[in-house]
Amino acid sequence: MIIGGGIAGLATAAGLIRRGIEVRILDRGWLPWQMGMGFIVLRTGLDALCELFPKVLWGSVGAPVLRAKIMTCDSELLSDTRLDAYAISRGTLMETMLRQLPPGTLVDHATVADFARTSDGRVRAVVCEDGRIFPCSMVIGADGIRSTTRRLLHPQVSLDDVRVREVVSIFDAPHVAELIGTTFYKYYDPDGGFGVGIVHVGGGQVVWFVQHDAARYDWADLSPGMIRWKIWEKVAGWPAPIPALWAMTKFSKSHLWFTRDLYPDYDYARDNVVLVGDAAHPVLSFTSHGATGALEDAVLLPPMLSNAFTDPEREAAAAAFALIRRDMFERIVIEGREILERFLLPLAKQPQGVMVPLVK
Ligand SMILES: Cc1cc2nc3c(=O)[nH]c(=O)nc-3n(C[C@H](O)[C@H](O)[C@H](O)COP(=O)(O)OP(=O)(O)OC[C@H]3O[C@@H](n4cnc5c(N)ncnc54)[C@H](O)[C@@H]3O)c2cc1C
Repeated sequence: MIIGGGIAGLATAAGLIRRGIEVRILDRGWLPWQMGMGFIVLRTGLDALCELFPKVLWGSVGAPVLRAKIMTCDSELLSDTRLDAYAISRGTLMETMLRQLPPGTLVDHATVADFARTSDGRVRAVVCEDGRIFPCSMVIGADGIRSTTRRLLHPQVSLDDVRVREVVSIFDAPHVAELIGTTFYKYYDPDGGFGVGIVHVGGGQVVWFVQHDAARYDWADLSPGMIRWKIWEKVAGWPAPIPALWAMTKFSKSHLWFTRDLYPDYDYARDNVVLVGDAAHPVLSFTSHGATGALEDAVLLPPMLSNAFTDPEREAAAAAFALIRRDMFERIVIEGREILERFLLPLAKQPQGVMVPLVK
């Protein structure tokens, strides 16, 4: 049983089904903001998509990202790095993956609230908020950053707010998409703590986000209209296409994202439950490793489970997966925090120049 039909849940289901393992996904229901945004997927994530969903022409639903150009808001080029990445809107990615799964795999409007365990501690059923009970032999928790599965395994683990927040917007802008091509642009305020990123996510859709230090720009309680003007105060004189993007954006449809991560000092697997994706390893968006990490999990875990037929075998496979992933995400969390610290500094005080916002 998989809890959560986001990127990790759908992709892991695809990996298990390909190996003949029967699987069901319970999801509480996709929220509009979850469908709307988009992100960069690194090469390992794109390889995972191609392996898990070989019938999809991924090149035609997303867009390649082959360079990252980091500039000041006065158009001074700070760095120009080659990338081997891909960008896609979240809605397109989820709908494309879901279409590839057998009908009935995803059970919608099923919000998991609790587990029913036997005396050996193993989960034998998941219990939904509305009282429905789904029996299971194993649970894969893919229920995202505020994971109920993680809370049920580790009630003491809690997410903290990180100082940086993002206002993320997506819209159809084919002319801007053509202008930016395959480059991920990031513009920084020389005083630090404020930046704008722009990327084409395919089909003429552009995602742009305003990363800001919440200690200097506390917009959490502002209306979308006020956030719109606060952003304008900062970006009015910034290079094209930023003012045009601002003018085209309906901020009522933008998402104010509180970036969060978790240092992995807890187990990703316990008894017959294993965490994947953001449920296991929330990371800062600076790492560009959220979606990529979820997709990597989905290629790694299913083959480890495919030869596990008993409870102890499944638990050993889950524990091995958890160890490999925890080691990797310890590094990613640490590097993500370093990129964040550098983002908060004025450009003149950056120790070795700006860092490209991703961890390989
Ligand atoms: C604004 C923004 C920008 C981002 N930018 C990037 C980027 O550039 N690069 C990148 O790699 N990543 C990025 N990410 C992160 C990326 O979207 C996530 O890391 C990725 O979606 C993780 O997938 P997941 O399946 O683990 O979680 P999610 O996609 O969040 O899926 C969790 C699923 O679980 C369901 N669920 C939750 N609770 C329950 C419950 N109790 N019962 C049943 N179902 C439940 C939810 O409905 C959801 O469908 C960004 C995220 C945001 C919000």
